[in-house]
Amino acid sequence: MLEKMEILDVDKVIEEFEAMTNDAENVQKQTLKKILEENGCAEYLQNLGLNGRTDPESFKACVPLVNHSDLEPYIQKIVDGPPSPILTGTPLTTISLSSGTTQGKPKFVPFNDELMETTLQIYRTSYAFRNREYPIKNGKALQFIYSSRQSKTKGGLIAGTATTNVFRNSQFKNAMKSMQSQCCSPDEVIFGPDFHQSLYCHLLCGLLFREEIQLVSSTFAHSLVHAFRTFEEVWEELCADIREGALSSRITFPSVRAAMAKSLKPNPQLADLIHAKCSALSNWYGLIPELFPNVKYIYGIMTGSMEPYLKKLRHYAGDVPLVTADYGSSEGWVGANINPNLPPEAATYAVLPHIGYFEFIPLNGDVLEPEPVGLTEVKVGEEYEIIVTNVAGLYRYRLGDVVKVMGFHNKTPELKFVCRRNLMLTINIDKNTEKDLQLAVEEAAKLIAGEKLEVVDFSSHVDVSTDPGHYVIFWEINGEVRDEVLQECCNTLDRAFVDAGYVSSRKVNSIAPLELRVVWRGTFQKILDHYLGLGAALSQFKTPRCVGPTNNKVLQILCGNVAKSYFSTAF
Ligand code: AMP
Repeated sequence: MLEKMEILDVDKVIEEFEAMTNDAENVQKQTLKKILEENGCAEYLQNLGLNGRTDPESFKACVPLVNHSDLEPYIQKIVDGPPSPILTGTPLTTISLSSGTTQGKPKFVPFNDELMETTLQIYRTSYAFRNREYPIKNGKALQFIYSSRQSKTKGGLIAGTATTNVFRNSQFKNAMKSMQSQCCSPDEVIFGPDFHQSLYCHLLCGLLFREEIQLVSSTFAHSLVHAFRTFEEVWEELCADIREGALSSRITFPSVRAAMAKSLKPNPQLADLIHAKCSALSNWYGLIPELFPNVKYIYGIMTGSMEPYLKKLRHYAGDVPLVTADYGSSEGWVGANINPNLPPEAATYAVLPHIGYFEFIPLNGDVLEPEPVGLTEVKVGEEYEIIVTNVAGLYRYRLGDVVKVMGFHNKTPELKFVCRRNLMLTINIDKNTEKDLQLAVEEAAKLIAGEKLEVVDFSSHVDVSTDPGHYVIFWEINGEVRDEVLQECCNTLDRAFVDAGYVSSRKVNSIAPLELRVVWRGTFQKILDHYLGLGAALSQFKTPRCVGPTNNKVLQILCGNVAKSYFSTAF
């Protein structure tokens, strides 16, 4: 029986968005007022002497800028219970675990129904714009989404990764239906206890519904590439399952097996078709449209630390457009991609002025401690650190991200994600961001391109155990490369960091030669497994690009798996 579906009125969503962004300054004031009125009785705000004032000036004068560590005592109190208004007027009942891939351990951040509502608002907004460009109708989505375990804290709160809290929320499924993007896999797969098994089943479901799939997505692009790399390994097994109508013995959980059995019937014709298509592909180029002939676009966060996966994703995607998803974090959403036709490298995110109160610390000027400016006061071309005040009890919270203002949509800025502020390779006067590292790796990886060789993943570390310190770059490569070539890659990496501080330090040897360490195949999978073991969700995984001392375990994994190492002779 067909379920009656409420289809989202995309024109109305766009109309509301236009009105809101045209009145961004006012909407920001109203949003702040609402947040402060609803949470004024919270212990945190009570201590700051606002005395009921809700205007931006009083807010800035009374409330300090904070990092996560400043809030930890409050968050710990919430986690330990009993319920009381500590950060929010209504005590929290749920807490999110952020991915923690930059700091090495997951952090607790507040989650509540209001934050869930902002999630749906941003999903609807970007969907409305996307649907204008690439309409999908009565389609299914192959979504590589995974939910990690939810647990109970000492104080009785539900704790799970932010994506888990979203996927498990009763409103999520209806929202996906209204956006005609319902996941083709059953809940038992999404919420399955083992992500390797869930991934296999997602792929199988995708194949079973191949004609209906109009959208292939994941939260972050990493999971998409990971999924299709896995497909390359298991495709024949998937074909065998379809042929026999029997699920591989690698799926061991009875609930997952039972759910999959409902869609799996012997279908030798489909198995033959997929087998023939895969066999005919050259090095898997254009795999996605071959498998899913009606796919309209591929969707997921593709900017920032996801950019290194774009090359591989484009290879799988052939001529299917890649559309980057929205910009936000476990702490709250920031902006929506309202220009879905732009390639991810050029994508910007328009800030939704009603989902939080935003401030921006200018990073370009000479002032040592510049004053944050408001959403509508930012300047095109300038870079800022972003500060969030949200509906879930974060006030003037430093998200740790650097963004650049690329323009305005009506009165709201369109931001480009630049980097995480603390992800910086630095020894003395040198400063290299995640983006600089990515560009250096891309440059050096050209030397091994061709012959199907590629850098599967990479990370870095500043080694100051010897004096002077030096940069260490870790590479996992999908095959054997000659020593002379790798030595040249190492030299190219060293030369590719063009930041003046680095170059001058290298010339006078106050930074020692860069080291390239090639790690064994599967090393980055071990890092991923390590994070999953800590309770992180695959959906939110971001490879740590710069591993510092706070991330000892990951450093141990990397250093313990070095196959070969090279020192630069470039300077
Ligand atoms: P999480 O800790 O899993 O909540 O991840 C949040 C972080 O992911 C953000 O602070 C950003 O650094 C990064 N992120 C989220 N969305 C995007 C995006 N659209 N582009 C680039 N980076 C993003």
